[in-house]
Amino acid sequence: MSLPSQAEYVIAGAGIHGLSTAWRLAERLTADGEGVNGRIVIIDKANRIAAGATGIACGVVRNNYFQPAMRKLMAHSVSIWESDPDAFSYHPNGYMQISCEKMREDVKQIHAEQAAIGYESVFIEGEEESRDYMLNMFDDWQAQGITSVLHEKPGGYANNVKAMEGLSKKVLDLGVTVVLETEITGFVSEGNGQRVTAVETDKGTIACDNLIIGAGPWVRDFWRMLRPSFSN
Ligand SMILES: Cc1cc2nc3c(=O)[nH]c(=O)nc-3n(C[C@H](O)[C@H](O)[C@H](O)COP(=O)(O)OP(=O)(O)OC[C@H]3O[C@@H](n4cnc5c(N)ncnc54)[C@H](O)[C@@H]3O)c2cc1C
Repeated sequence: MSLPSQAEYVIAGAGIHGLSTAWRLAERLTADGEGVNGRIVIIDKANRIAAGATGIACGVVRNNYFQPAMRKLMAHSVSIWESDPDAFSYHPNGYMQISCEKMREDVKQIHAEQAAIGYESVFIEGEEESRDYMLNMFDDWQAQGITSVLHEKPGGYANNVKAMEGLSKKVLDLGVTVVLETEITGFVSEGNGQRVTAVETDKGTIACDNLIIGAGPWVRDFWRMLRPSFSN
């Protein structure tokens, strides 16, 4: 697919963030009775989707991050994986954090936050209790020094590249354009850099009304392109 000269929405990066954003956006436009064709363009410098961090991730789907603000967002994300397990190659076998004493209080807090939003999990405390819980599941369990177990009942893992192939199919079926092997090199803006009006690439320039950046670890390059004076 060659680079169009214009699109309403340009998305930089065909990893999980770029593809998910395109999916949701296309779904919303479709639900509003609007056409999608030609309006959303994803650009990636690689010759395939999921060529960045998305393609090498372990695929663990959990709600176990130690930032309270993430809790609801992660619960929502898990529900998206659950919405189409086959397409996303998602295996809902739950997630366990099996911890030493040093981590007990932090994990306890995660459990309390999960309980507060109705995210189902079990928290086991104490060395003997933790061992019994694990032995009940794996009769050859042998790990020592475990004093807590947080068992999240939702969550699991996904085969990351297969998941992105499923997501990409949804995106393409909705009429999104994906342009690969095209590197974004800069931006044209107006209002003293306040609004991006076009994206420059090694294959030409594409005018846009909205720019969404899903560049993962390359985001620093994009900050520099947006604000040439930006430094670390
Ligand atoms: C080893 C590892 C294991 C991980 N395990 C997990 C896990 O188990 N569970 C979990 O939830 N998360 C995990 N993560 C984190 C997760 O992979 C990332 O948060 C997520 O994939 C980021 O997605 P993204 O779409 O933002 O970025 P990316 O997938 O990196 O996508 C960015 C895209 O931008 C493109 N791009 C960059 N610069 C340009 C440019 N100038 N022009 C055009 N295109 C450009 C790249 O080619 C790339 O395709 C892991 C990460 C790593 C590294």
